[in-house]
Amino acid sequence: MVKLAEWRGKEIFRKYGVPLPPGRVARSPAEAEQWVRDGRVPLPCVIKAQVLAGGRGKGGAVRFANTPEEVRAAAQAILALEFKGERVREVLLEGKLAIGKELYVAITLDRSARVPLLLTSSQGGVEIETVEDSAIVRQPIHPFPGLAAYEKRRASQSLGLTGAAGKALSPLLDALWTAFNAEDAELIEINPLAVVGEGLVALDAKVIIEDDAGFRHPGYSEIRDDRTPLEEIAREKEIAFVQLDGDIGVIANGAGLTMATLDVLTEFGGHPGVFLDLGGTDDPAKVSEAFLLMAQARPRAVFLNIFGGVTRCDTVATGLVQAMGQIPPAERFPLVARIRGNNEVEGIEILRRAGITALSSLKESAQSVVAAAQGPAAAGGHA
Ligand code: ADP
Ligand code: MG
Repeated sequence: MVKLAEWRGKEIFRKYGVPLPPGRVARSPAEAEQWVRDGRVPLPCVIKAQVLAGGRGKGGAVRFANTPEEVRAAAQAILALEFKGERVREVLLEGKLAIGKELYVAITLDRSARVPLLLTSSQGGVEIETVEDSAIVRQPIHPFPGLAAYEKRRASQSLGLTGAAGKALSPLLDALWTAFNAEDAELIEINPLAVVGEGLVALDAKVIIEDDAGFRHPGYSEIRDDRTPLEEIAREKEIAFVQLDGDIGVIANGAGLTMATLDVLTEFGGHPGVFLDLGGTDDPAKVSEAFLLMAQARPRAVFLNIFGGVTRCDTVATGLVQAMGQIPPAERFPLVARIRGNNEVEGIEILRRAGITALSSLKESAQSVVAAAQGPAAAGGHA
C-alpha cells in the first residue's frame, strides 16, 4: 500500500483533469513566501501540512494567510509541527477559494463484492467515518464498461448538484475513474470536493496505490514517506516488519497469528511497538536478520509466538539464539517465547540452553511480556 501525500495525489488529479486550486509545494518558510511573492500562488492562500494522517483542518495543520509575511509565519509554524507522530517536512500552498458547499466523492474497492465502488455524500469536509451511513450513497461499478451515465446522474443527485456544477460532475467522475484504473489505485478520495461558484474543485486528495501493481508504476516505489527507516530496510530485505507506537516487539509467523498476538497483548494492557511476521522460512539466518532488525527498534520486551509448520520451531530458535549473541548487553531486552508445532521439543531445548524459558499458555506468556515491558524487573526468560 503506497499512501500518497496530498500534493502527490493532486499531481495525479492534474494529470487526469480533475480541477484543482493553483498550488505549489514548499519545504521551507522562505520557499513558501517566495511562491506567493512570485505570484505562483495567489493571496489569500491556504498552507497545509503534507502528512499522511487526516484531520489536519481540525488539528491546526491547515492555516490561512493574507500576506507574504503571514505565509512565511504559517509555513514556519506548520513545518515545526509533529502531526500525529509525523514530522512535517513539506507544506502545500494553494489559493484560498470561496467555498459554496463541501462534498465527498471517492472510488475504492469493495473487496467482498470484488468490484470498484463509487461513494458520494453531500456531507463533505468532515471525516467520512463520522458521516451517518444513510448520508453516503454507494454504487458498485462494473469494472469493464466503467461508470455509466445513470450512475453519474445518481451521484450528482446524491450530492444535490444542479445546473453548471451538476454538469461539471460528469467529466470529473470520468477523470477519477480513469485515474483509479490507470494508476492502479485502491482508493481515490476527494474530501472536500468544493462547489466554487458554478464549478467543482478538489480541495483535498487522498490516493492509495495498490502495492501489488507496483511493478507497473516504478515511480511510486521511490515514494517512501509512509515508511520508517527500519521499515525501509526491512522492505529491501523482504522482511514483513511494521512499526507501531508501543514498546513490545512481536515475532510471529503468518498474518493471522501475528494479528491475533497483537490483539492478545492489547487485551492484557500491553502496547505492541513493532511486529515481525516470519512467514514461511527454513533459514535460521533469515530469522536472525529479522530479529536483529527488530532489536534496532529498541523494544522493552519481545514476545516470540510461533506456530511451527513450514517454519519449524527449531529453525526459529536457532536463528534467535544466534541473533541474541550479537546484541550488545546494554541493548538486550526480556524475551518471552511460546513455540508450538513442528519440531517444538527441539526448539524449546535450543532456547533452554540459551537460558530462555518457553511457556506454553498464550495467556500466561502474553501477561508475562506485558509485565516485562512495564517494569525493569523482567519477567519470563531473558536475553
Ligand atoms: P484534512 O482533511 O486533513 O482536514 P483538508 O485538505 O480537507 O484537510 O482541509 C481542511 C479544510 O480546509 C477543508 O475542509 C476546507 O474547508 C479548507 N480548505 C482546504 N483547502 C482549501 C482551499 N484551497 N481554499 C479554501 N479552503 C480550503
Ligand atoms: Mg480532507
